[in-house]
Amino acid sequence: MNDRITRRDYLRMLGISGLAIGTGSFDPSRALARGVGESGGFQSSVIARDKVQPNRANPVLIDGEVIQPQRKLQVFAETDVLVVGGGSAGIVAAIAAKRAGAKVTVVERYGHFGGLWTGGLVLVILGHIVKGPKQVCQGIGEEIMRRLDKMDGAIINRRTGSNPTVDAEAVKYLMVEMIEQENIDVFLHCWGVDAIMQDGAVKGAVFESKSGRQAILAKVVIDATGDGDIFAAAGAEFEHRSHNIGLVSRVGNLDKIDKSKAPPDAKPKHLGSATPVKGVNWVNLRGPMVDGLDVATLTRMEMNHRKFIWNNIRKTRSIPGYERLYLVETAPQLGVRITRVLDGLNTVRLDHLKNATKFPDVIGVGGASNAEHGEWQIPYGALVPEKIDNVLAAGRCISAELRMADLVRLIPNCFVTGHAAGVAAAVAVRDRCSPRDADVSKIQKILRQQEAYLG
Ligand SMILES: Cc1cc2nc3c(=O)[nH]c(=O)nc-3n(C[C@H](O)[C@H](O)[C@H](O)COP(=O)(O)OP(=O)(O)OC[C@H]3O[C@@H](n4cnc5c(N)ncnc54)[C@H](O)[C@@H]3O)c2cc1C
Repeated sequence: MNDRITRRDYLRMLGISGLAIGTGSFDPSRALARGVGESGGFQSSVIARDKVQPNRANPVLIDGEVIQPQRKLQVFAETDVLVVGGGSAGIVAAIAAKRAGAKVTVVERYGHFGGLWTGGLVLVILGHIVKGPKQVCQGIGEEIMRRLDKMDGAIINRRTGSNPTVDAEAVKYLMVEMIEQENIDVFLHCWGVDAIMQDGAVKGAVFESKSGRQAILAKVVIDATGDGDIFAAAGAEFEHRSHNIGLVSRVGNLDKIDKSKAPPDAKPKHLGSATPVKGVNWVNLRGPMVDGLDVATLTRMEMNHRKFIWNNIRKTRSIPGYERLYLVETAPQLGVRITRVLDGLNTVRLDHLKNATKFPDVIGVGGASNAEHGEWQIPYGALVPEKIDNVLAAGRCISAELRMADLVRLIPNCFVTGHAAGVAAAVAVRDRCSPRDADVSKIQKILRQQEAYLG
């Protein structure tokens, strides 16, 4: 059966079927006009009546304690490599594993890909290029930059060696395009909540969604949640850290500001930095150092930061010449920098960086955000838990000492560890072994074939 949706079907679904179909001239202004006020033409329909969800077993209240009874979960899917989290590390991991021959499934808690990069509006790709200028992030991370550049979705100046700045919407679009091109199975709006275990090894993950609590079985799981949700649930050891939690925003009409009208002492010090959208800047808010795993703290941060940003813009707009400045958006995702960090077989350390340590199990090279540091190698062991099998970490939660956290979490370095985790998982699946026993020379060979830079 051909279940491809044609352009005509799609326009009909959007409720704009009367538009110039077939002429190639899609008129968005008419499409938008149709969307003003939902008057007529829309219908809801019944999917099922009186339906009881299968395997319900409600938690019960016994003597003041809430007890969760045992319950059989539906196996929703089976896959070779399950990537939990579709941020910068997770998406690159999924693409790398697929290109290395594995069947891949991604589950992501939100409705878009990119994690902090897009949902957190972190638009500057620091460390992609290091002093020289030399580009250390290659492979799939660099492919993403090239494709964004072609789409006019990034500011990239390779000659000056400045790091790219991207447009979050372009990234979200490109991630969908790449996932579809690779034929990767994806489930959005799925929150990974537990690890499925057998004999000390992870066999998949349980996730919650509007469809209920379900299981996905996998030969290898990549924890790309940023917070180590899955390796922690599996019982892997980790360090629980606090870091500054902020909220990024974008401000518009920068090109309509008339600075000459403002009294010199009233001019705002910083209005963020440029984005690929004319007149729009991105503004980073550092925020206080708090615990990103504490839900009460996260709630407080969301509410306080939003109030602060709104009031700050209002104050700035009251300055003569700045009246037209406006808040385009606050990031939908809070800026949680670091929470859980894996205790790995090896750990990325500052003295490795300073001594330019070479690792026999190198799987990538990290870049730094400052001019003083060049490149540093990342050992495979930093992705592998000390004890638990069949799970790899990728992105900002890999094994790294405190002083390296701010380098490890940079987006290009998350691309690099995601790339390595994806290839390593595919090698483990192919060789029917745990990732801890995977042949590192094979991982390195495939990474090089996929144009990764290993130093
Ligand atoms: C305010 C701020 C400013 C920053 N500035 C810069 C900068 O200028 N340049 C730079 O390079 N880096 C910067 N960083 C760091 C960088 O943005 C992040 O470290 C990087 O994006 C992390 O990528 P990741 O894929 O490891 O994690 P994330 O981006 O956090 O991705 C994790 C993904 O997993 C999903 N997820 C989480 N838990 C679950 C779950 N249980 N189940 C399913 N899905 C889940 C999330 O929704 C998300 O999509 C900044 C970070 C912050 C917060």
